[in-house]
Amino acid sequence: MTKILAIDDTPYNLDILKNGLEDEGFAVVTAESGRKGLELIDRESPELVLLDIGMPEMDGHQVLQQIRLSDEHGDLPVIILTANTEDSNLARCLESGANDYVTKPFSFTALVARINNVLRTQKDTRQLNRDVEKLRDLAYRDEMTGLLNRRAFFERANAEFEISKSSGEPLAIAILDIDHFKIINDTFGHAAGDEVLSAFGKLLKSCLRLHDIVGRIGGEEFAVCLPNSQAMHAYNIFERLRTTLAKQQLLTNDDGTTHQVTVSVGVVGLTDQKELDNLMILADMALYRAKNQGRNRTIVETGVTN
Ligand code: GH3
Ligand code: MG
Ligand code: MG
Repeated sequence: MTKILAIDDTPYNLDILKNGLEDEGFAVVTAESGRKGLELIDRESPELVLLDIGMPEMDGHQVLQQIRLSDEHGDLPVIILTANTEDSNLARCLESGANDYVTKPFSFTALVARINNVLRTQKDTRQLNRDVEKLRDLAYRDEMTGLLNRRAFFERANAEFEISKSSGEPLAIAILDIDHFKIINDTFGHAAGDEVLSAFGKLLKSCLRLHDIVGRIGGEEFAVCLPNSQAMHAYNIFERLRTTLAKQQLLTNDDGTTHQVTVSVGVVGLTDQKELDNLMILADMALYRAKNQGRNRTIVETGVTN
């Protein structure tokens, strides 16, 4: 049953609303002041509020403002009931965030139609917001690891890069590539390979701060942008990641021994490079050296100022 809160300083009005709406199949709670109404919103979680405007102490506009400012109830549907039919008053009701208004005296048929219309719109809007959120996620997330995808990584890292360039704060970029991943796929199967990628994504995320930007930019290739970090700080983080990865037994051979998953990392600090792409190339060169020197290591690109 849809629960409605009616706020009006005239008890007689509340009685009429309560009786009429209960007859229409709504559950109705009532409050005789704005303050009491706000309390009941917290306590009773109504699905819609009918709000009188002219009330002493705290008028309807002030109550509505409080509702709209609330984190939890900011989008609670509110219909204003007002005896003042001047255009300027009705416009002000909508401007202050009411979903609709009904002028007094009203017929219950009209009031119920307005209530149902506002509730339907609210439901549609919520569904739309959920859909947008889902689409945003699909557009920005790598499904397998939950990390950012390539496009989103570059978008966010570019923004951080520009901030660091203008503020002079340090920034580090790292590219990580799982070693001999092809062997993992060939030996244990593609599904096991997927699980390694997903576990590695989790581990990587757990080693980083919340504001570090981390994405899967290729099959078994990951990138991290660490704002406000020197290259040596990043080096320490990825060395810790390597140690933790070495302790994880992600794959077991037929004979019961574990197959060690390792990773190579190339790191670079902010230089006088004008483009993020150039920093990525330097990080990639460091990664290439890590692979050439035997893999399972972190190399910081030298010859750059940090
Ligand atoms: P290196 O140490 O030089 O990086 O060797 P590697 O075998 O890791 O590198 P290579 O680039 O030769 O092979 C990467 C493999 O990763 C090949 C590709 O089939 C596999 N791969 C790419 N994306 C996925 C994926 O989403 N899931 C799985 N299971 N494998 C993938
Ligand atoms: Mg690899
Ligand atoms: Mg690769």
